[in-house]
Amino acid sequence: MYVVTNPANGELVEEVANSTNEEVQEAIGRVHSGFPGWRSRTVAERAAIVARAADLFEERVDEFANIMTLEMGKRINEGRGEIGIVVDIFRYYAEHGPALLADEPLDIKGGRAVITKSPIGALLGIMPWNFPCYQVARFVAPNLVLGNTILLKHASICPRSARAIEEVLRDAGVPDDVYVNTFASSRQIPAILADPRIQGVSLTGSEQAGMSVAAEAGRHLKKTVLELGGSDPLIVLDTDDMDETVNATATARMRNCGQSCNAPKRMIVLADIYDEYVDQLTKRVAEYYVPGDPADPETKLPPLASVAAADEVAAQVAKAVEQGATLRTGGHRIEPGAFLEATVLTDVAPGMDAYYEEIFGPVVIVFRAETEDDAVRLANDTPFGLGASVWGTDPDRLRRVAERIDAGMVYLNRAGGSQADLPFGGIKRSGIGRELGPAGIEEFMNKKSIRL
Ligand code: NDP
Repeated sequence: MYVVTNPANGELVEEVANSTNEEVQEAIGRVHSGFPGWRSRTVAERAAIVARAADLFEERVDEFANIMTLEMGKRINEGRGEIGIVVDIFRYYAEHGPALLADEPLDIKGGRAVITKSPIGALLGIMPWNFPCYQVARFVAPNLVLGNTILLKHASICPRSARAIEEVLRDAGVPDDVYVNTFASSRQIPAILADPRIQGVSLTGSEQAGMSVAAEAGRHLKKTVLELGGSDPLIVLDTDDMDETVNATATARMRNCGQSCNAPKRMIVLADIYDEYVDQLTKRVAEYYVPGDPADPETKLPPLASVAAADEVAAQVAKAVEQGATLRTGGHRIEPGAFLEATVLTDVAPGMDAYYEEIFGPVVIVFRAETEDDAVRLANDTPFGLGASVWGTDPDRLRRVAERIDAGMVYLNRAGGSQADLPFGGIKRSGIGRELGPAGIEEFMNKKSIRL
């Protein structure tokens, strides 16, 4: 069952029945049979349709922002911001797709070759609830321009986003056998992956879902892209403006109520400024992040996406404290709804669960590092490797530290975020493959060598 429950007050809004097995089979059949027609269109035709989709997302920004606020509690202005980047992504691939798909001539020993770039067929996308439109855009826009067709299974709390996205694509001119939404359950995923008509799968979500989908896809030798969790470090080496550093780093952590895979989740601060940073951060978090209605543009701290998510994060915080962490502020659930006070933890040490796991909510953990080497050691002492950021006043030092961090992305004096033209993805348990930028169109591409 796909269920919309308003996380701000716990009210049940809508229930949508799961697709039956027959409906799933019909949907697979459609995206399979739509492939030859879609791939045979010119890149320019496909890009024009993708550009129209960008315009329609832009026109319907308020509709999407309202849906996300209702389904997963996103602050209304953050919803508008999310659609802004969705528009950028669709426009980026519409504009750059033709150049990115151009043949690449190659001089080789004894002659010449050319690498051509073609689509591979029907793909499955499995998407999460934290950025219901952006996550879909990252996968869909490049693959539509490339010429792949798409079966999309959205998170079961986001059926309205799923429908509205399908509507935009249809209205933009994407045929109904090229992009198909399914309300499949995760139990139906193995059968979809086993189906020879499906050529690959892209999943954004939890490690558990990633492992299960990768295992199943591997059994059938299907190409996989996984964008999983993160516990990104944010290193503060020094600062000439502590207020600004505290506010910018807190903002980055609290974006989307802390439910971003690439939010900075572990602040690692050098010893000489640690006490001042912790004091100011605690004050900022306690005073500024007041819970409120996500539909009100003035609200600073919305609910989490669901009561289950809020309970889980509260339990992680309680466990950390039980294991010896210091709770500086927050930590309590607020009801009705899926609210959790904005939280700061310190004294988290190896051996505690919170040292290793991802906390997907409004919780900042601050670590004290004795030296630059110690900061790098702490940053890399994690099973994850998605993003990282390094803050300080000396550009050479920032760059030197960035080189030593094991992550797919490092930002200097800025935290996380994402933009259409910059590749996004992680290493270690954060996933496999890249989305966005030139790399994002290559994942489900047949780079064919033709020896001339
Ligand atoms: P999930 O991984 O469960 O959900 C993401 C998507 O995967 C949903 O469409 C979900 O479907 C689907 N899914 C779940 N299990 C399977 C499976 N075994 N096979 C196929 N598809 C599956 O995320 P949660 O909602 O449980 O969130 C829990 C944690 O996941 C968070 O705390 C966070 O750590 C991480 N997460 C990371 C995200 C990121 O951006 N990297 C995004 C969301 C979550 P359904 O909704 O029907 O279960």
